[in-house]
Amino acid sequence: MEIKIIKCLTDNFSYILFDKKTSLSAVIDPSEAGPIIEEIEKNNLNLKYVINTHHHYDHVGGNQELKEKYNCKIAAYEADKDRIPEIDINLKNDQTWKNELFKCKILHIPGHTSGHICIYINEINALFTGDTLFSLGCGRIFEGTYDEMYESLNKLKSFPKKTQIYCGHEYTKKNSDFCLYFDPKNSKLQEKVLAINKHIQNGTPTIPTLLGDELECNIFLRSDNSEIQKQLGINSKDPFKTFVKLRDLKDNF
Ligand code: ZN
Ligand code: FE
Repeated sequence: MEIKIIKCLTDNFSYILFDKKTSLSAVIDPSEAGPIIEEIEKNNLNLKYVINTHHHYDHVGGNQELKEKYNCKIAAYEADKDRIPEIDINLKNDQTWKNELFKCKILHIPGHTSGHICIYINEINALFTGDTLFSLGCGRIFEGTYDEMYESLNKLKSFPKKTQIYCGHEYTKKNSDFCLYFDPKNSKLQEKVLAINKHIQNGTPTIPTLLGDELECNIFLRSDNSEIQKQLGINSKDPFKTFVKLRDLKDNF
């Protein structure tokens, strides 16, 4: 199976998963139908599924039009069934969902929204994190609590280091400024920023990002780091309190 990264709206990413042999395909978080249809038609794909990480318009905007055109099934978190347009398949926390394209693991990761999920496909080492984990950042807490977001990020941290993270937005450059500001001595981060800048200059996506890199560079996954705690000027060594402080600072950065 292969993944095509589709840029949508201003800074969204949708992802088309497809099997070259069978032409079967699925799309994760179609922000809008247009760019997805274009890609499906160009490659003669057969769209079977739409999967949404959460209900925000920039992740479900293409649902209805894609379903009308391709008669595909819409899969999303069960508790969000009243706010996911055209939902057909109710996904559950901890579920292993097998379809004719792939087998995946669904995890409920609330915080950004109460019904946010991630989709993990072991066979291709891919984890779709929506607006919960970004490259060098994490999502805003809209509906959940700091505790929930912290717990959700901890769940994501426990996937294999070789996992490729596919997130919902191209926020990497801005996120990297924030990380560098509070973690200036991190040489691995400095190295990653050089690679990011190259992508930005070339107009290519900074996604996917390796979970192993995120664990070393993403400040929101490193709130137990004493250098970062020192930079923040907080007395507490508590990683959760450090995370809360970082999340608040990021909202106004
Ligand atoms: Zn969102
Ligand atoms: Fe979004």
